[in-house]
Order: sequence, then C-alpha cells, then structure tokens
Amino acid sequence: MSRQMPESWVLPAINDHTRGFFTSGKIQVRACTGCGTIEHPPEDVCHGCQGTSFEDRELAGKGHVYSHTVIHHPVHPALKDAVPYTVVLVSLDDAPEVRITGNLLDAGNADLRIGLRVKAVWEEVPDPSGGDPIRLPQWVVDE
Ligand SMILES: [Zn+2]
Repeated sequence: MSRQMPESWVLPAINDHTRGFFTSGKIQVRACTGCGTIEHPPEDVCHGCQGTSFEDRELAGKGHVYSHTVIHHPVHPALKDAVPYTVVLVSLDDAPEVRITGNLLDAGNADLRIGLRVKAVWEEVPDPSGGDPIRLPQWVVDE
C-alpha cells in the first residue's frame, strides 16, 4: 500500500516504547502489569498506579470515529499535493479509552461522521535506519 502522505513526510521515531506499535502490523499497545491500564501513547510511568512495568497487548483494530477533521490547508510545503486529507481519532471497540489517530484512507467515499465504523490497515514503509519496516496504522470504513 502506498502512503497517504508524501514519501518525504517524516516517519515516527522507533524506540523501545514505540517499536511494537509501529512495526508489528497490529494495534499493539503497552499495558501496565500492575493494574492493566493501557498507556497509549506509551509512557514510562502508569497513570493508574504509577507502576513502571508494562507488557504488550494486541487490540482488535476495529472501532468508531470519535472525532475527525478534514485538512484543506497544507501546513508544510511537502503536503501541498496531499490536501485535502482526513484525520480521524478512533475509539477502539475493545479499549474505548484508547484513541488512535490516523488518516481515513477512503474518506472521499465515506459518510464521514462521529460513530462511523472503521478498521485498521497498515502502510508499510522501509525504516530509513535499516530496522524492521515501519507499519503505519491507517483507517478505512468497516462496513
Ligand atoms: Zn498501573
């Protein structure tokens, strides 16, 4: 799958906290081993119990649009050919408190609204530093 954003657009920094989310090809988040709170984006300390031990947890990658916006103005010259594009904040079915941001890839065909059912898909991009491919979660309508 080609990228929604230009090939020159910045990629996420991959580190021990973000590797699972951006390379697994799954909605993989970190959950506190002490209280189960999901920390997304990942933090060093649990917001629920101040614990510092986490494990990876895979979520289903389906949910609904919690919020959305359509970007018409390119905020950077590299985005001039990408506009308009749609950014959605997705509340996941199996962890509604977790909200994942991404582009809605088929927005032109969608009745864009809060509550619209969506599912995750991944755009694979080579890691410029030579690590595992980066897999960017994006969203499509789940009918
Ligand atoms: Zn905790």
